[in-house]
Order: sequence, then structure tokens, then C-alpha cells
Amino acid sequence: MHHQYLSWIDNLDVGAVRTDRPEGNTTERLAHALWEQAYSATDLVVNIHCNTRPDSLIYQWINVGNPATRERLVKMAEVFGVTTIVSDREIPEDATPTLGNMAARRGVPVILEELIDGRWISEPSTGAGVRGVLNIMKAFDMIDGEIEPQQGFPVVPGVNRFHGVVRAGRGGLIRFFKAPGERFEEGETLAEIYDLYGDVVEEVKMPVDGYVWAYPCGSSLGTSGGLQAVQTGANVAYAFTHEKDWPP
Ligand SMILES: [Zn+2]
Repeated sequence: MHHQYLSWIDNLDVGAVRTDRPEGNTTERLAHALWEQAYSATDLVVNIHCNTRPDSLIYQWINVGNPATRERLVKMAEVFGVTTIVSDREIPEDATPTLGNMAARRGVPVILEELIDGRWISEPSTGAGVRGVLNIMKAFDMIDGEIEPQQGFPVVPGVNRFHGVVRAGRGGLIRFFKAPGERFEEGETLAEIYDLYGDVVEEVKMPVDGYVWAYPCGSSLGTSGGLQAVQTGANVAYAFTHEKDWPP
């Protein structure tokens, strides 16, 4: 409604604030309510996000660093059936009690699903989301039915790892050469930044053999993808590498 990633009242991210402040600011109260009424009362969480550009790769992220949730997360990812980024990070004891960290502490598995088209209700996003959620419900015996494979968009199979954010060294207008999900070699040009006369001022290179899941450039109003213009230091691409075959 407000065209913003962050809460429009206090500019905070509900996934990053503390959940233990029922008397806190607006976003903390929201996180508290979500923890008390939803997260802490459930067996599985499917946290649905969305990238903004229409050509982003639909992907999911699981953290398998916690033995209490590992097996269920691997099963959820397998049946949801989209490109999977895997991390294994232990949540330190003194970590901020965010929704994600609290869930990890209580043994509630949270899978992050990144659909696309944040400002539109459109395919293939809605089909993938519905199919994936129903597949999880079937796999965990909440409803009857066969698991339906995903279709209609690219999937990079196996176990993939986030490599990092590729940034612009120069400001200007940007154009891209490959769609998310297409393979790049290390050093390949993934984007060109050019000035208002059309002269190329920078070729942005892929830092590693791998893939891009989205081009999160052109931030405006706290959300990426709104503009074709980039600034020096702006995010240009999220890069990831294929590590090995499933399972993690
Ligand atoms: Zn997200």
C-alpha cells in the first residue's frame, strides 16, 4: 500500500526488530504480536517475500545450521521445489530476539520464499507460491494429495550458496545481458552502466562462476527495482554459486 519495504511509520523492518517489546515502537509491537499469535504457536513457517523486478529468479533460502530444524527445512525446500540457497549459520546465544532468531531458538523451522513481482499479483509468482505451500502441507500430512512439481520458470537444481552483492563502481543508467538463472563465468560482464550520452562508463563483472537471482538496482522509496538509474555503490546483482547436488 505504501510502496515501501520498511514500515512506513518508523522505517523499521519487522523481521529485524526485537519481538520482546509489547510496549515498544509500532514495528516492535507488530513483531511481538506476530511472535505471540503466529510464530510461537506453529510447527512450520513459510515466510513469503518477493523481489521487485519481473525477471527475478524465484528462489528459497534455508539455514541448516540448527540440528533441531534441519531435517524439516530440507524436506520443506525439497517439496516447495524452487532454486534453493543453503546456509549453515548457528544463531549465537546473545543474538537479537528477532522473529527468525526466536523461531530458531524454539526449534520452529522457517523457510524463506522469494517470489517475484512485489507490486503485482501475477504469474509465475502466484502459481509457484500456491503450489509450493500446498506441497509443504501435503508433505507434512496437513492435507491429502500428490506433490506437484514446479513449472513455468527456471530452477537451478541442487545446493546453492549466496556469494555476495555485486555493486556499481560508477553512477549512471544500467542495462543487463542475461536473465536471472542463466549461468555466468567469472569475469563475464553482467551489466553496463552508461551516461546520458550513451557512453559506457563501467562494465560490471561477475565475481565468480555462478548465477544471479535478481538485479536489485535502482532503489527508490526504500525498495529496489523502481528506477533504471544506479548510484556509485548501489546494489546491482545478488550472486550465487552452485555447490553440489541435493540434499545439503
Ligand atoms: Zn526478501
